[in-house]
Amino acid sequence: MPISENAKAVLEKRYLIRDENGQPTETVDGLFHRVADAIAQADAVFDAGADVAATAQSFYEMMTGLEFLPNSPTLMNAGRPLGQLSACFVLPVGDSMEEIFDAIKNAALIHKSGGGTGFSFSRLRSRGSTVNSTGGVASGPISFMKVFNAATEAVKQGGTRRGANMGILRVDHPDIMDFITCKNDTREITNFNLSVGITEAFMQAVEQNTDYPLVDPASRQITGRLSARKVFEAIIQSAWQTGEPGIIFLDRLNRDNPVPSLGEIESTNPCGEQPLLPYEACNLGSINLVRHLKKTDSGWALDRDKLSDTVRKAVHFLDNVIEVNKYPLPEIDQMTRSTRKIGLGVMGFADMLLYLGIPYNSEAGVEMGRTVMELVESVGHQASQALAAQRGAFPCFDQSVFRDAAPLRNATVTTIAPTGTLSIIAGVSSGVEPVFAYAYIRNVMDNTHLIEANGILKDVLVSRGLYSEALMQQIVEQGSLAHIAGIPEDIRRVFVCAHDVSPVWHVKMQAAFQTYTDNAVSKTVNFPNSATQDDVREVYELAYRLGCKGTTIYRDGSRQEQVLNIGKVN
Ligand code: ADP
Repeated sequence: MPISENAKAVLEKRYLIRDENGQPTETVDGLFHRVADAIAQADAVFDAGADVAATAQSFYEMMTGLEFLPNSPTLMNAGRPLGQLSACFVLPVGDSMEEIFDAIKNAALIHKSGGGTGFSFSRLRSRGSTVNSTGGVASGPISFMKVFNAATEAVKQGGTRRGANMGILRVDHPDIMDFITCKNDTREITNFNLSVGITEAFMQAVEQNTDYPLVDPASRQITGRLSARKVFEAIIQSAWQTGEPGIIFLDRLNRDNPVPSLGEIESTNPCGEQPLLPYEACNLGSINLVRHLKKTDSGWALDRDKLSDTVRKAVHFLDNVIEVNKYPLPEIDQMTRSTRKIGLGVMGFADMLLYLGIPYNSEAGVEMGRTVMELVESVGHQASQALAAQRGAFPCFDQSVFRDAAPLRNATVTTIAPTGTLSIIAGVSSGVEPVFAYAYIRNVMDNTHLIEANGILKDVLVSRGLYSEALMQQIVEQGSLAHIAGIPEDIRRVFVCAHDVSPVWHVKMQAAFQTYTDNAVSKTVNFPNSATQDDVREVYELAYRLGCKGTTIYRDGSRQEQVLNIGKVN
């Protein structure tokens, strides 16, 4: 198994089955057999004569070869009594006490199983409006978000994952200004990522510098008007200051809603890559691109045949996950099975570019993003069609936007996940992000610090007789190779890190992947600490122009607690 010691440590700490004394009762190899066996079982549902053992073996090899990994809840829970396998959920929040506290209870059940939840708070009546039954005044979405936050804090997911939430408020909700600044005190609402739900009408009003109406969701009355530019500036100012809120383009999410008759998409999962209907869940999986390279006479190249083969196996795997998944609520079971959404994506993209000798921040880099994702998307859709021929189309296919085309087994096939833990297990760069740093100090869970050096860089430096401890120390201190004179120009040009990549290239890469992704792309646009609010505005506008579904920015040093730090221990 090509799994590193570091990856084993992560799996041992968080993923293995344990007895009541906290001792693991399975090995890392046992974990992959458990998952492969449990997921392969679904084959027997559709074909009594299926060779389940052969499928299990191929799933096992795909995972232990680090070619593909399913999202964390599948690794943790498959083949176990809990059996909840999805990372992403969206729950509705209705405008009544019953509905609000039902959502909190349901979120707690999901968090306990390792899933993340997204909510739109846009249906809640605004702060200060009347409550008919008591004659009192409503406390508004932000005060209820604090209750969701406190509940999340209390459910610590058995020591594995702290709950994660997405909170969304439409830009035309009367409480929007409070929402934009509600995390400026960085101790507040810490278990949520926040995004403003932006409409096309709002973006037009920004362009034309006009006012737009605020609408109370309960009464449907216009309660006031705001200058679109002022609101846009407030979002930019707050994001510049704290990294939040992000923005999502609601009309775009709904333009790609495959089954509009089931309802409107109003939220995504916590990291923004998976738009879902209320009560819908989705299971993700990511292909490790580094394992899909082949050696040629002129160096490394993308192995298209191997990648296509892994995509087909991964779609089979993820469709099986829907079948054997144990859903936390009957509504979620029903909704998820009716669309059968899956989210297949990639990780190790930046590492792949290093092997190919292509800079991330270049037209060739962006073109490679398109090439890879176009292949994943087209083979993924073919695989879903092939499954539909054997197992039937997803139940709502006849009401879907695809009804006149070839039947699909899954209403969506592709998503680019952040792969926070999966990329550590696979030992590659996360998702489609650039390499964060080539030598750095990582703050791990129990406040210990590890120095890590990028293996691909190290190999190149060694092969050219340039490697030295002193040089690595210099890279740790500077965080980037860009200004280290002892490293030749051709290496510096390719081995760029997140901060060498200008925000505009971050967005171009996100847009390239979005072109071939059914759902959305998890991507953070990194800014140096010195970036201005104008820089942030430029990125938001570019993301809108290039067809992204949303964007999240982060300016270095703008939050006190950072997971990764360049060149310093804090
Ligand atoms: P992983 O690498 O562990 O599979 P990702 O970093 O790719 O997970 O995140 C994918 C999705 O998983 C997130 O968008 C979110 O929906 C869910 N998720 C991630 N971390 C958490 C967490 N701590 N608690 C709950 N859900 C999470």
